[in-house]
This record gives sequence, structure tokens and C-alpha cells, in this order.
Amino acid sequence: MKIVADLHIHTVASGHAYSTILENVTAAAEKGLEMIAITDHGPDMPGGPHAYHFGNLKAVPAELFGVRILKGVEANVIDHEGNLDLAEDRLASLDIVLAGLHTVCSPNGSVAKNTQMMVNAMKNPWVDAIVHPGNPEYLVDAETIVKAAVEYDVALEINNSSLKVSRVGSRPYCENIAALAKQYGAKIILGTDSHFALAIGDFSKAIEILDKYKISPDLVINTSIENVLRHLNRRSNRKSSVN
Ligand SMILES: [Zn+2]
Ligand SMILES: [Zn+2]
Repeated sequence: MKIVADLHIHTVASGHAYSTILENVTAAAEKGLEMIAITDHGPDMPGGPHAYHFGNLKAVPAELFGVRILKGVEANVIDHEGNLDLAEDRLASLDIVLAGLHTVCSPNGSVAKNTQMMVNAMKNPWVDAIVHPGNPEYLVDAETIVKAAVEYDVALEINNSSLKVSRVGSRPYCENIAALAKQYGAKIILGTDSHFALAIGDFSKAIEILDKYKISPDLVINTSIENVLRHLNRRSNRKSSVN
């Protein structure tokens, strides 16, 4: 499976990541990627950027060294209603919105509560993908999550970092989500969740899971620029259907 886009990348702006946008784009070009998404943590992450950071991403070119650059966020889900830590006008100005549960920002509760929180975040019309849904720190009902992802047309991430250095114990949960995504036809998004430029473009662990469950490249949005843009462009339809 050829992956052309790394859609989950952090920069120094996240407060606990160690490369600049320029270093990240350079690394992506060297890896032969066609597109990256800069997705720093939302403002509620300790050490994370102020909301203004997301309002000025227009200062960053849309393409450098042959690599298209999507301006985005990895927003924090901050309550059981699924609210995010970035206002709607900011979300609307971004190319891509990832949303995820993080221990310092998101309440943790029963499987039912966590599942409802994640489903509620998917109902936000600006949310394009839920990141690391297989995080064992936030147990969810995977079948409910996958069915909701289909209903709201939100992609579910197989996070390469979860299978290497972060969120220890994620693999069986990620495998379950992958199997269910295949069964129900939910879209999958791959991200390295790079916090240092050299991690960019390494999807090796995530692809092991895609291969194991014989996931069709059609379900994976990172397989072509067209697939990525088609997924992101559906947000205008979602927005109008919500209003
Ligand atoms: Zn981080
Ligand atoms: Zn995250």
C-alpha cells in the first residue's frame, strides 16, 4: 500500500515536540511524501499553542519543496458533550481537524461515557478524524465507534506512534478497530503522530495491521491526494446538513 500523506504531525508549537514546520517539510520531502498535515495540539494541552496560533497559519505556505502542507489541529475533546478546545471559527479556518482524547484534557469514565464522548466529537461537523481511538487509557465500545464513524463520515486513525512508543498496549484495540472498519466500511486515516521530524513517513506498524486484516487501500484516505481532499471537502456538506 502506497501512502502519500502523513496527516498527523506536531511541531515545537505543541510544547512537547521538537521540530519546526520547515524541518518537518524537509523530512517529508526526503521521504517522498506528497502531503503533510501540521496538527499541533489544541490550546488546552499544557505547553500547547494559544488559539491565535491557529488563526495565523496562513503565514505558512500551502506547498514547499513539492510537499503540500495542510494547516490543522489535533484538538482536545474536553467534555462528555464532545466539545473541543478550539472555537468553531478557528476550526472552520483550518484545512483539517483531528480530535482526540488526552489524559490531561479529557474526562475519563466508564466505557459508555468514553464512547459517548467520542461519538459526540464525531458529530461536530468540522471534525475530519478521530485520532488514536484504540488508546487503552480511554476504553470505548469499538463497534459503536466504528458505526458512528460511518454514520458521520469521520475517519478513524491507526496511529503509528501508538504501536511504537506511545499509549502502550494499544495494538489489540487498534486491530479490533481495523477489523471492524473493514466490516462496516469505515474510513481509516494513518498518522505518524510525529513529535520529531525523523518519525515522519514511518507507517510501518500501522501497515502491518492493514495487511493483517487485508484492508483495501480504498478505505485508507492517505493513499492519494485525491482521497485526502475528497474526505476533507465533504465537511462543507456536513456543515450545511447540521445547520
Ligand atoms: Zn503530543
Ligand atoms: Zn494525540
